[in-house]
Amino acid sequence: MKSPTLYLNEIETVWIDPTVRNHPLAQRISTQFPASKIRIGFPEGLLTQPHPLQLDRIKKRLFLTHGRGHLVKPCPGSRGRICCGYWVINAMLHCPMDCHYCILQSYLSVPALTVFVDEDTIREEIQHRLGSRDGHIFRFGTGELGDSLIHDALTGFSRRMVPFFANTRNGILELKTKTALIGSLKGLDPKGHTVASWSINPQSIIQKVEPKTASLSQRIKAARQCQDMGYWIGLHFDPVIWFEGWEKAYHEVIESLAQSLDPRRIIWISLAGLRYTRQQKETIKWRFGDTLLFFGEFFRDEDGKFRYLQSLRISMYQKLIKWLMEWSPDLFIYFCMENRRVWEETFPSPPHNTRELDERFNQNVWRFLKRG
Ligand code: SF4
Repeated sequence: MKSPTLYLNEIETVWIDPTVRNHPLAQRISTQFPASKIRIGFPEGLLTQPHPLQLDRIKKRLFLTHGRGHLVKPCPGSRGRICCGYWVINAMLHCPMDCHYCILQSYLSVPALTVFVDEDTIREEIQHRLGSRDGHIFRFGTGELGDSLIHDALTGFSRRMVPFFANTRNGILELKTKTALIGSLKGLDPKGHTVASWSINPQSIIQKVEPKTASLSQRIKAARQCQDMGYWIGLHFDPVIWFEGWEKAYHEVIESLAQSLDPRRIIWISLAGLRYTRQQKETIKWRFGDTLLFFGEFFRDEDGKFRYLQSLRISMYQKLIKWLMEWSPDLFIYFCMENRRVWEETFPSPPHNTRELDERFNQNVWRFLKRG
């Protein structure tokens, strides 16, 4: 398996939007590549929907530019689902890793790994949001349209955001990753305001459907190091994938986590079954024809996404929650994009809507902040 650290060597061209060529971040990034790879201008195909076959090319070029519109937005969630009130920081688009199920491959229309240089705007938008509701904890993440840590060696973005959040009263930054690239987090004091999070799956799944990501043991080791450096840890079983032998494989994952991590420093754990749109499936079939993702029975849900049958999802979640609770009964576990019926069948007192789930997060995070 190729290490994600190698992706920089695979970048063939760095495109710099002429309007940002003198921006300090653009200059800093461009000095890290040979001059022969730098182009001033726009990568061709901009604003057109990339064909699945172009994605390998897209992942080999970097584009530095300004973001358009708001860069800090509420997570769009999904129709008919209970969501968690999360805020998304759009500092980058796309990802050099290559998970078969990645929604970005059929969702984004930019023809390059894109980094926005607008860090000041991002800070202003976060400050504005934090000041809008006193006493409420706002959770922000950079890992929705890319991987939170993959570009840090180039941009230093997380290294500047951790102290920024440490100085807020009611802001939490989540850095969600499938890498083990935690170098940018070393030597900082997050003061309880940054969560380092890992997406978790059995190693057999990582090997088969998450190319170029870190192995399970590398992720757990990195999480352990972050925990020791004073970060809260988040874990995301997302997507949970059904396959012959899934129970044993997922149970072993939880045993491995329990051997390495202190559950008192795990601030939240999400569970979310595999889901995909029709267009996403077409792209996946184009790019990874023999993928194991489509084993099992799926149906088209009311939000237009395909999911495992509800009875199967409930049964998988019940088992995962049981094993997690056996590890530590105090873990804060939630679903990402699940419906009310699933919540009711798996939790004794489920939240009834997004506002209630957001409030539970609020209480949980204050509990962690007080503990320090
Ligand atoms: S790590 Fe995340 S963003 Fe990157 S390819 Fe995988 S799912 Fe997509």
